[in-house]
Amino acid sequence: METYSNSSSIRVLHVEDNLAYARLVKESIKDFSTSRILLWHCTKLADAYTLLEKERMDVVLLDLSLPDSLGLSSVETLHNRFPEVALIVLTGTRHEELGIQALQLGAQDYLVKDNCGGDMLVKSIFYACERQRIDTKIRDQALTDGLTGLPNRAHFMGYLKNALSRASRLHSNITLLYLDFDGFKQINDTFGHLEGDTFLIEAANRIKSCIRQSDFCARLGGDEFAIVADASEFDFEFSIPLADKVLAAMRETFYTRGGIELAVSCSVGCAIYQGRNNHIGIDRFIQSADEAMYRAKYDGGDCYCLYDEHFAKESLRSSKMLIQLRSALKKTQFHLEFQPIINTQTGVISAVETLLRWTDNEGNIVPPTEFIPYLEKNQMIRTVGEWVLKEACTQFKAQFGNLKRIPQLTINVSPLQLKDPTFIRCVADCLEDAGFDSSWLVLEITENVLLNDIDQMMSALNELVDMGVLIAIDDFGTGYSSMKYLMDIPAEILKIDRTFVEDLSSSKSHQLITKGMIRLAHALGKSVVVEGVETKDVARALTLMGADFLQGFYFSHPVSLDGLKDTLTINHAVG
Ligand code: C2E
Ligand code: CA
Ligand code: CA
Repeated sequence: METYSNSSSIRVLHVEDNLAYARLVKESIKDFSTSRILLWHCTKLADAYTLLEKERMDVVLLDLSLPDSLGLSSVETLHNRFPEVALIVLTGTRHEELGIQALQLGAQDYLVKDNCGGDMLVKSIFYACERQRIDTKIRDQALTDGLTGLPNRAHFMGYLKNALSRASRLHSNITLLYLDFDGFKQINDTFGHLEGDTFLIEAANRIKSCIRQSDFCARLGGDEFAIVADASEFDFEFSIPLADKVLAAMRETFYTRGGIELAVSCSVGCAIYQGRNNHIGIDRFIQSADEAMYRAKYDGGDCYCLYDEHFAKESLRSSKMLIQLRSALKKTQFHLEFQPIINTQTGVISAVETLLRWTDNEGNIVPPTEFIPYLEKNQMIRTVGEWVLKEACTQFKAQFGNLKRIPQLTINVSPLQLKDPTFIRCVADCLEDAGFDSSWLVLEITENVLLNDIDQMMSALNELVDMGVLIAIDDFGTGYSSMKYLMDIPAEILKIDRTFVEDLSSSKSHQLITKGMIRLAHALGKSVVVEGVETKDVARALTLMGADFLQGFYFSHPVSLDGLKDTLTINHAVG
């Protein structure tokens, strides 16, 4: 262990207005120590501050009755301003309680002048130095991230608090950048935690290389980092140069130690604190940067997003929506509509798709594309999804259960539901409770479901198929699934997204692509539903292209099941 006995000189400042005592201390130190103690002296606390700003000191010997400061307040202010300097209090009278208070305020030792010989003083200086060194080390460890060596979250919070109060005082601007990596989890999952750690260390080094010495960066945990920087010269309405610099550094390819390229990108959220007219608290400021970071992620990642007022309104809207959605089930604000799917060969309704509807507190019907992402963000989709499943099966059984020819019921399933280990059980229970034949049920999943946890998703889908439930791939053509997954996925039905249909009559390439997708599905042994059919011409064209089923406003808008009952036997053939 390193101690002061084998290191360089100890620099001591004696703050004492009694010149005779100051001289005595100087003599005693000279008598009892080697040349390793270097001594400075001043008579006022203000002079001590000036000197400490300029010179590094290891120890301050502090008298408690100075011309410009009396009592323990000198200890407190000195320790707060220069926490790295060891303090030894020297007083004229013995006062145990005062001594304890001095230690509590940050002093390392408390000595009474008359009882303190030279040997004792020198020993106290050595011990104080050593204790201070240990204290500093412990404090540093508590404030440092063990892996990257960067300051940790606790240090970040302390630093940011001081930075904000300084900015308010000086009317300067501070920017806070929140960084989060896209794809970090895959590094851990694919290459193991050691590679994950190597990546984080490299990321930390790159962040450090982007910032100035006066800036501050920290690892907040996991793959989350933060930078606090002076933003006074940024033209932040247009760009945050620091964010650009960080993103550029992160775009350089990362490699594993074995030289394999890693697919990661970085999302950055920026918030600006304007000292002149900004008095939001630290928590709100951090939340702003965090929200901006999520927005950058939502925009696809590998970009930064600046928190702004418009965005603040959006997030207010989002939190209001969440509060309403939380109670929507209890208030029975959800209901279901059903849209028929027509068999092009027979012209009859072969299935109905269940579509969720929400009427909010003001009585507005909110489209599912607007509120489902919020349900997913909050995991509420599991509860609501379960309600949809039960409600649809029950209604369907009641309306159509006694018919001779029963159409199929299709239900949209969010990837988050499929990921939930209790989902399969929930489907099984629901089928049993409603007395519902599993072959009547089709679950629609989007092809993007396979982007994460392929094995888990595949095994969930296979279990469903084993139960007799059919799987349809929804919105086909808009996602990213590879041909391999398309072959492996146990889906019988492919639903071609309506974006291909919108321009079918005017766009030759849309016709070719749609025809190609129908052929591909047939080659893979799957049947094809085309969505978004709004006109007879389109219906006819798709029938000629070989589509097996059609769905869209041309046949029917989504309606209640009751409204569909009478149309079940009608022939919708388009000729
Ligand atoms: P989707 O699964 O692609 O559903 C079809 C959407 O297309 C429905 O919109 C339907 O009203 C609309 N549509 C049907 N025919 C036509 C047409 O001819 N022209 C046009 N322009 N649109 C047509 P909706 O009801 O707004 O649903 C939007 C999306 O919300 C659905 O897209 C589905 O992804 C999601 N969704 C709806 N209900 C649920 C649910 O219960 N659970 C989950 N997870 N998602 C749901
Ligand atoms: Ca669907
Ligand atoms: Ca669809």
